[in-house]
Amino acid sequence: MTFIIQFICLYIFNLTMVLLISFGLYNLYYIFSFCKNNPKYKDILNINKKYSFNKDVPENFTIIEFCDTKKQYDNFDFNLFIYNAYLNNQGNLRIYYEKTKENINLYNVYKKEFNDYLENNFKEDAEEKAAIYFNKVEKFICKRKFINHRIDFGAKIVVKYVSPQGRNSYTKSVLASFINIHSDVDYFKKAKNRREYYKRSAFIERSKMSKALRYQVLKRDHFRCQACGASGKDVELHVDHIIPVSKGGKTELSNLQTLCRDCNLGKGNRF
Ligand SMILES: [Zn+2]
Repeated sequence: MTFIIQFICLYIFNLTMVLLISFGLYNLYYIFSFCKNNPKYKDILNINKKYSFNKDVPENFTIIEFCDTKKQYDNFDFNLFIYNAYLNNQGNLRIYYEKTKENINLYNVYKKEFNDYLENNFKEDAEEKAAIYFNKVEKFICKRKFINHRIDFGAKIVVKYVSPQGRNSYTKSVLASFINIHSDVDYFKKAKNRREYYKRSAFIERSKMSKALRYQVLKRDHFRCQACGASGKDVELHVDHIIPVSKGGKTELSNLQTLCRDCNLGKGNRF
């Protein structure tokens, strides 16, 4: 009795395998005969051959950073670290980033050309099935043979701290994809540009303050401190930028006010 059940099970198993294998073979046969008989296959090969992607970017890589103190470990800023690692090419981060960026740009051009080709050459409904197989062929080509376009990666940033006696050790990590690193780099680059922009414009704005403009402001404010109202001979009056030039304020009447020395020094850059 057991023997018969075993036999039936084995029979069903074998039948399933045979069906699966023949289905797979049929698919493979379809793709290959499609390639062989279709001149469009040659076109897609030619499109692929035109593009050469950077191939030496790993799918995953790790950067390990050791902290000197527990405080440094606790306050570790992953975003800033990524930006600095980019600047210093720590763990090849900048090279991988730049190469991937190139690949993404190239991939977009390639994809557009490929899609345009599909649109122009598979217009009729009858060819829809062919287009599906065509896509499969394209994927097959990219994976196995001609181009291996890496348009993303995973960068694992690991931070470690080991206490002096080696009694306690701490580890934390983040996994950053290309787009994470891209936004960090972009953010800090822009922040740097903003600082430099204000530094430059502050210098220009300060040089715009003339004696005539100074007098105009004092006269408009009736030679009176606009904060405490002090005026008179023994009060030292300053002309102050309401929005400081270091924060983008302009040297013009609407942004200038009269302040006494005490009020002005009290204000500082506390805008
Ligand atoms: Zn005052």
